[in-house]
Amino acid sequence: MFKSKKIAKIGDLCVACGVCVKECPLRAITIQTGIKAKVCLTTCVGCGKCSKACPASVIGICDREVLHER
Ligand code: SF4
Ligand code: SF4
Repeated sequence: MFKSKKIAKIGDLCVACGVCVKECPLRAITIQTGIKAKVCLTTCVGCGKCSKACPASVIGICDREVLHER
């Protein structure tokens, strides 16, 4: 059972700057080999802190149901 119905989704234009990694209070984001940020699906609660902090504005907050349908 997930803690929230929302989850952060990283867009393709992520520049792997690491700002979101530092911003997430739950440490739910990691950088994959310097290429792109990745959100832990079980840890993220969709609070949106990372989304507001991302300098490239590439993090969206989505419904988990929508994410799972893809
Ligand atoms: S803050 Fe934005 S651009 Fe930087 S690593 Fe996170 S998602 Fe990518
Ligand atoms: S939405 Fe909140 S919990 Fe999820 S990755 Fe972003 S800062 Fe962390």
